[in-house]
Formats: sequence, C-alpha cells, structure tokens
Amino acid sequence: MRDAWSSHESWVFECLNCATTWDEELEVRHYGDGHGNEAVIYERGGQPCPTPWVDRSCPNCQSQNVKALSAVKGRHGEVPQARTGSDVAMVFHLRRVHAW
Ligand SMILES: [Zn+2]
Repeated sequence: MRDAWSSHESWVFECLNCATTWDEELEVRHYGDGHGNEAVIYERGGQPCPTPWVDRSCPNCQSQNVKALSAVKGRHGEVPQARTGSDVAMVFHLRRVHAW
C-alpha cells in the first residue's frame, strides 16, 4: 500500500561567490511505503529535478559555490552542501527537522 501526496516548497539560493540570491518554487512529491518510511521527489515544471541543494549553479556567475536555504514554514534551515552519499537519508533528516 503506497500513498503519495504533494506539497509546495520555496527554496532560496545564495551564491557565495557574487552574493546573488534567487528563489525557486518546487513541487515536492512524497511517497510513503506503508511502513512509516517516506521518499521525496522534487519536481519543477512537472519534471523531476535534483534535490534543491545538489548541483546548483549561480545564474549570474555560474559558480557552484551556492548555499541553499529552505524557506519552508518561514524558517531558514541551512542545508549542508557536501554530498553525503545518500541524498535520501538527508531528506529524511530534513523531514524530521521540519516536523518539529
Ligand atoms: Zn554568483
């Protein structure tokens, strides 16, 4: 038994090279596996896209030294830029943070 729902998230990005900031609106598809686990897929314009903090480059200077800030619930939670080898685990972690 799988269930799925979607939510809307705003992300704010800041280039650490040239200080440009911009934001993106993302649709987030959530999939539960029926065992309390949740997977999340980000979509932009109906197309799946990488998690917001991965492989972003600055539209102004093309630097990839970009910091992503979640604007969910009006809180700015900083997301580590380093790849951890498991983006899904990172999402789970963030979900828990936001849940509190
Ligand atoms: Zn830049």
